Amino acid sequence: MNVTELARRLRVRPQQLLEILPEYGFDVGKKAVKIDDKVANQIMRSWNSIRKEIEDKRRKEIEDKKREETELRKESGLSVALPDVMTVKDFSDRLNLPVTQVIVELMKNGILANQNQNIDYDTAGIMAEELGFSVQKEEGGKADEEKEKEREESLEKALAQNKNKEPRPPVVVVMGHVDHGKTKLLDTIREANIISGESGGITQHIGAYQTIWKDPKTKEQKPITFIDTPGHEAFTIMRSRGAQVADLAILVVAADDGVKPQTKEAIQIIKAAGLPFIVALNKIDKEAADLDRVKTELSQNGVNPEDWGGETPVVPISALTNLNIDKLLDILLLTADVNADKIQADPHIPAVGTIIESNLNKNIGAVATVLIQAGTLKIGDPLVINGEIYGKVRAMKDYKGDDLFEALPSTPAQIIGFKVSPVIGDVLDNTSAESATRIDIKQKKNEQTGAQQQSVATNSSGDDEDKKQKNSLNIVIKADMLGSLEAIIASLEKINHEEVGVKIVGKGLGNINESDVAKIEAKDGTIIGFHVKATPSTEELMREKGIKFLHFEIIYDLIDWVKDQLQFLLEKEKVVTEIGKLQVKAIFREEKHTATIGGLVVDGKIKKGARVRILKDDKIQGYGEITGLQSGKQDVKMVPAGSECGLRVQTKIKIEKDDILEIFVESIKDRELEF
Ligand code: GDP
Repeated sequence: MNVTELARRLRVRPQQLLEILPEYGFDVGKKAVKIDDKVANQIMRSWNSIRKEIEDKRRKEIEDKKREETELRKESGLSVALPDVMTVKDFSDRLNLPVTQVIVELMKNGILANQNQNIDYDTAGIMAEELGFSVQKEEGGKADEEKEKEREESLEKALAQNKNKEPRPPVVVVMGHVDHGKTKLLDTIREANIISGESGGITQHIGAYQTIWKDPKTKEQKPITFIDTPGHEAFTIMRSRGAQVADLAILVVAADDGVKPQTKEAIQIIKAAGLPFIVALNKIDKEAADLDRVKTELSQNGVNPEDWGGETPVVPISALTNLNIDKLLDILLLTADVNADKIQADPHIPAVGTIIESNLNKNIGAVATVLIQAGTLKIGDPLVINGEIYGKVRAMKDYKGDDLFEALPSTPAQIIGFKVSPVIGDVLDNTSAESATRIDIKQKKNEQTGAQQQSVATNSSGDDEDKKQKNSLNIVIKADMLGSLEAIIASLEKINHEEVGVKIVGKGLGNINESDVAKIEAKDGTIIGFHVKATPSTEELMREKGIKFLHFEIIYDLIDWVKDQLQFLLEKEKVVTEIGKLQVKAIFREEKHTATIGGLVVDGKIKKGARVRILKDDKIQGYGEITGLQSGKQDVKMVPAGSECGLRVQTKIKIEKDDILEIFVESIKDRELEF
């Protein structure tokens, strides 16, 4: 078998493979091109344990290094001042440690946090002490936190300009565990629209849509806005902007599956945002549906069903067979009526809203959907985000793909006209248009490169990135909870190196499925599951296609694995040492690709096996290798300066009398990947 083929199967670079093999007792030369099939099979069989041993060794080295650094800090009395609250990023800056290391240390202490999340003084203090710092308390200094607060306050301030408030459609978010039927329910509701002309019509996905329903109390026809982003993005929007985006929530729980991790996470988010919500107990058409069991689980998690004397309406439905969807919408509108005083906005002020979807379209550039929360957005209006003008509204479309000329409160509008992509969760605030500054597009694009790479890669069209980053580790990452997924991605994003890097070609919550396989298939990468498994059919598919799937239970192990893989990908450094110079005196024999010549060593020495640079009139003609060396008819290994010798040079270049050969040796040096 060719070494390159074997290396490909083992997912390692050929040169590395050749260096590793002798260390593990395989008699394979460092320059071997082919390996005996029997030996190759043995290598493949042992490879898992070899790789594990290498990884363990490296892990141990890293641990030792960390311990040493901690000791060193203790000895040198290094101190750090910490405020009451700080973001993980700020904390790592203060310690002058990579943010990934801090995230990992936090995880070891049972805290899952991404770099933008806050930790308090007590937590940070304990960790800093464990890392060898002496800790002092600092007064004030909460720059990052203040910035985030400022953004939230700007939304509140803008919304406070709502003077002549009028009722607006309620905005509803659908949350729940993966596979419990959120998408199906959103599709079914979309079709339940009572305006017959629109029912089942062609709609386009812009991150939210509206449906019209008859209010059971007032008998009026009312639009309802549904946020329709893919599962975990709805979670992200909800968490980053809290109650400000949605007015009501539907918690979908599959009646045959009950309360699951993401159900619990959704309950926490909904409650933290103070959102009125109703539970849709879905899939009641299934035999395994057990309503009482799920209601019990709900009450164990702080959600008390109305029919059991609690405050939360629970509606048994089947999104698949369209059962009780009308009842669900009725109850939704009744809940909106009860909260009508909060579901109001002034349509007469400049538009205020939140970005709920944002992507780059190859032909038209940045396209984003804004959910208008107050005021009216019109064609030609500026697009003011974080105090900067990102462009102006050139065109707007609604969820049906029809042109929109103005968007009123609670309307999702897809906007063309952004010169720079906004980020999901950004606040559009045209009330501050007068004081807004023109955006520096170039600088903004530079700032956003990281984030965009991520989003482009997620859309699995990251071919440009392939060119930029020579060696990337392609992964699809799935996790059971949003918190874990965010923490993992934040850690991975921080692993930066100019030659190697991680490319996330897909991410999401829930079990590995066939679409994950499709994402990774063309990319030669690995699917990683954190606390999630592959569905049986997907497992089969991955086996068939030879796609690597790894399952992790501890984030620390996952990050370590990634780092080890990147270390494997990092090209080793070639070190060139010049050793001598020879002047060609005679050509004895010329064969295909080999010349036998005589010469005088004019500088340094000559060694058998060394490489040569062939020069004619000081110009490099090409390269070769010394395969034989003789001095006075004797085979020798080395000839010193001042001596004449005969040598065989393997080269494609024609060597002539008076050419100069520069002799050098190359060695390979391991490079440690620093994070
Ligand atoms: P999501 O991950 O929460 O968005 O879940 P999906 O909407 O993708 O639904 C997951 C699976 O459950 C799909 O195969 C749906 O067809 C199925 N499903 C959704 N609702 C129902 C239901 O009411 N009854 C049954 N039997 N299957 C359903």
